[in-house]
Amino acid sequence: ADAATVFAWFDGALVDAGAMQAGLTTHAMHYGSGVFEGMRAYATESGAAVFRLPEHLERMRRGAEMFGLPFDPALCAEATLATLRANRHADAYIRPLAWFGEGGFGLDVEGHVPHMMVATTATSVHLNGSRARLGVGKWRRNPADSLPPLKLCGSYVNSILAKREAKARGFDEALFTDREGFTVECTGANVFMVKDGRLTAVEHRDALPGITRDTLLQLTGAPSRMVPLAELMDADEVFACGTAAEVAPVAQIEEREFGDNPVTRELAELYGRVVRGREPAWRHWLTDL
Ligand code: PMP
Repeated sequence: ADAATVFAWFDGALVDAGAMQAGLTTHAMHYGSGVFEGMRAYATESGAAVFRLPEHLERMRRGAEMFGLPFDPALCAEATLATLRANRHADAYIRPLAWFGEGGFGLDVEGHVPHMMVATTATSVHLNGSRARLGVGKWRRNPADSLPPLKLCGSYVNSILAKREAKARGFDEALFTDREGFTVECTGANVFMVKDGRLTAVEHRDALPGITRDTLLQLTGAPSRMVPLAELMDADEVFACGTAAEVAPVAQIEEREFGDNPVTRELAELYGRVVRGREPAWRHWLTDL
């Protein structure tokens, strides 16, 4: 391993990420029987720290439980910190993945080898003001009574289809709505709106319980409720939020264009301070390396 080696944690050890391999009978590759997380580390004044690590790992644990996949959050936390340290990453995106590996071609997960990996990639400082244009997708979000809204690998085929469809029509991202016309979420982010200065979190049983969404709810005390698309279209501001997207202003939904987004900008700045440990009241959300 030379200075240029990118490390990943794989089944108990730090390895050269480029040399990691998975077998062709990997159950998760055939059937999506894996669970992942998307986390962020930020450079703070006292070094790099992971934002809301226990909450992410708890969501991952719940996903693993759905499959009967062994998953130890404490081990995954250790693996995450070790990988960040090995890669000397401060501002980074973190991808833990646990999955069923080699075995037969049957659907039963029993007899398949469970694996876990953690990979990290350095993130550049977010470009403020890249405003997203959303297309209302023809695809519905996986209904919660068919697939629980957790980060199960197979679930994301749904997001891939929706995102492709929206992009083919010239948009950046898809907005899911349900059959009754309620807003659900984007393919990888939750949705908020601002009307007459009041912030509302879009709530939907089919949407992933986002940790960024929860963060903003705790920071602002905003109400959360189901929001018809028609009401969202009538809002003054709309934004999407997620670990990777952070707080992302929406410029357009289909034909509807949104003007300036001062409340969104203010929240994005607050979020930026919180994740970098600059708001002492919320410092407990950061796990130091
Ligand atoms: N919805 C979906 C479908 C997602 O994949 C994500 C990203 N994890 C989110 C919402 C936002 O969740 P979080 O804030 O926990 O990243």
